Amino acid sequence: MSESRAFAKAPASLASSPDDLRVDPTVSCSRCDAVCCRLTVVVMPEDDVPEHLVDRSSQGLNVMARGEDGWCAAVDPLRMRCTIYDRRPGICRKFAMGSAYCRDEREKYLRGDAKVIPLSLR
Ligand code: SF4
Repeated sequence: MSESRAFAKAPASLASSPDDLRVDPTVSCSRCDAVCCRLTVVVMPEDDVPEHLVDRSSQGLNVMARGEDGWCAAVDPLRMRCTIYDRRPGICRKFAMGSAYCRDEREKYLRGDAKVIPLSLR
């Protein structure tokens, strides 16, 4: 999720197949429900995330806290935007808009696999 991220290509480090590098130009964060911000986000020591937004997972990892709705605690639920955009974790910075991972999460969301907030994905 972002304010207006535009990636030409997914990072090769996240690719496990050639299709992973294909970015769908029709996908836009501005027309999404911040689907990626429902995923577990590990906070690394080098990240500069406000402490009150960091939780401890059952595996002992520092992760972004989540609300009862399942969204990251840093999401503005009215605008579906990151409220700590300039301080978001590195993993969020690497998540490529329109990449295979992004598309897969959006498809799961559209199918209703994510049984949380009502769908308004466009
Ligand atoms: S820190 Fe920001 S970009 Fe990362 S999951 Fe939370 S709301 Fe989304």
